[in-house]
Amino acid sequence: CGQYFCEDHRLPENHNCPELWRVRTRSPPSVERERISVPRYEVKEPSIMYPFKAMRKEWTSITEIYHLTIGAAVVMAVGLSLMGPGFSWVAYIIQNPLAAFSSALLFMTLFISHELAHKISAKHFGLWAEFRLNVIGISLTTLSIFSPLIKVVSPGTVVVSGVASKEVIGKTALAGPLTNIVLAFLLYSASLHPLCSSTSVASGALLSIWIALLNLIPVGIFDGAKIFWWNKTVWAASFCISLILLMLFLFF
Ligand SMILES: [Zn+2]
Ligand SMILES: [Zn+2]
Repeated sequence: CGQYFCEDHRLPENHNCPELWRVRTRSPPSVERERISVPRYEVKEPSIMYPFKAMRKEWTSITEIYHLTIGAAVVMAVGLSLMGPGFSWVAYIIQNPLAAFSSALLFMTLFISHELAHKISAKHFGLWAEFRLNVIGISLTTLSIFSPLIKVVSPGTVVVSGVASKEVIGKTALAGPLTNIVLAFLLYSASLHPLCSSTSVASGALLSIWIALLNLIPVGIFDGAKIFWWNKTVWAASFCISLILLMLFLFF
C-alpha cells in the first residue's frame, strides 16, 4: 500500500488500508495475488472469504458506528479548541458552554456530512463502504486539538471495497469535498441574513471550506489524490472554487 509494510499488506481489507483503492485499481498483480490466495481461505474458513458480501445488505455496522463516534468526538474536541488560542478555549467553554458546544456540534456535522457523502456515493455505485479510523489521521487530528495553527480534521476515511473504475473512485472521492463546498456556501449565505448573522454560522462556513480545501490536496490519503488521478480538470475546478470561497470568507 506504500504506507505499511506489514504482513497484512497482502489483504489490505484486513487492516482497513487507506490505500486499498490503489491496490484494487492500479496494480493488477496485487489483485491477482489476492485471487490466488482466496481459495485457501475458502476451504479453511468460509466466513473470512466473504466478510464484505455478508455485510453488504446492512447499511452500517457496529464497528462503523464505533469508529464514527470516536472520530466525531475527536473532531468535536478540535472544534472546541478553536474557541481561543492556547488553552484559553477551556475558559471560554466554561463561560459560554451553550455557544461553545453548538459551534462544536456544527463542526462535527460538517465532518460527518463529508464522510456520509463518500459512503452514500460509494453505495450508489454498488460498493461496500464504511468509515474507519486510521493511525495517521487520528494522530494528526488529536494533535490538532493542541496545535495553535494547523487544524487537521481527518481522523479516518470511508474505506471502499469492490470492483470500481477510475471514474467511480474519483466521483466517490469528490462527493466529500463537494458536500463541504455546498454547506460552506449555504452557511455563508445564511450568515449574510440578519436573522442568522452570528459568528458561529460564519465560522462554520469558514471551517467547511477549510475541510474541503484540506481534503482536496492532491497527495497521499487525501480525497484530492483520487480526484486528481481520475480527472485533472475536475480536481483543478474544485480546488479553485474552494480557494476562492476561502478567500471570500476570510476577507469579505
Ligand atoms: Zn496496506
Ligand atoms: Zn474525504
